[in-house]
Amino acid sequence: LFACAWTFSRGSPDLDHLPPDDRPEIAFAGRSNVGKSSLINTLVGQRALARASNTPGRTQELNFFTDPAADLYLVDMPGYGFAEAPKDKVAAWNRTLRGYLSGRRTLLRVFVLVDARHGLKPVDDEIMGLLDSAAVSYQVILTKADKISRTDLDRVMAHTIQSLSKHPAAYPHVIATSAETAMGFEDLRAVVAKLLDA
Ligand code: GDP
Repeated sequence: LFACAWTFSRGSPDLDHLPPDDRPEIAFAGRSNVGKSSLINTLVGQRALARASNTPGRTQELNFFTDPAADLYLVDMPGYGFAEAPKDKVAAWNRTLRGYLSGRRTLLRVFVLVDARHGLKPVDDEIMGLLDSAAVSYQVILTKADKISRTDLDRVMAHTIQSLSKHPAAYPHVIATSAETAMGFEDLRAVVAKLLDA
């Protein structure tokens, strides 16, 4: 599935520029700098697919990646959590995001990326609330797991799973990953393959 030549398909700043919903898609969300580009690149085995260092506050777009052979869109959602963005822009973007999440019938799952060192932050809870209200299936992925000890990882994992119980649309299986060591990617690929099978 992931041994393809993935390419950038299009960036969509609003709901009028989404590609046709003609194939399943999975999306990746998370705070800026959480390791989203690294995770997408590692998932597909291409070092430079998603931009690995995004300029904070750059144009907010949903970036669609695809490969004809994979028959799937990977959607890179802009990193959230930058307070310095102008309020009207944030409000407009939230409307777009809400519209996308609640109206996209081909969206199979949103992976919410959380830095394993920090665990869930209030902004993560906010986005998960949005996903709950849109009734979109989502799943938490812990990133940069290589940066903490096994004991700390277990503790963050247990705490995260516990927090998810108050989120009705959250899938209870949390995946710990590292783009450095490739930890967790077999698990993640299996989850995606299963989603496409269902
Ligand atoms: P994005 O802003 O969410 O797309 O984050 P990036 O993928 O650009 O990663 C932000 C920073 O974290 C970069 O310096 C990456 O090299 C680093 N990083 C990302 N993933 C990992 C990881 O799994 N382990 C470690 N140690 N560093 C990572």
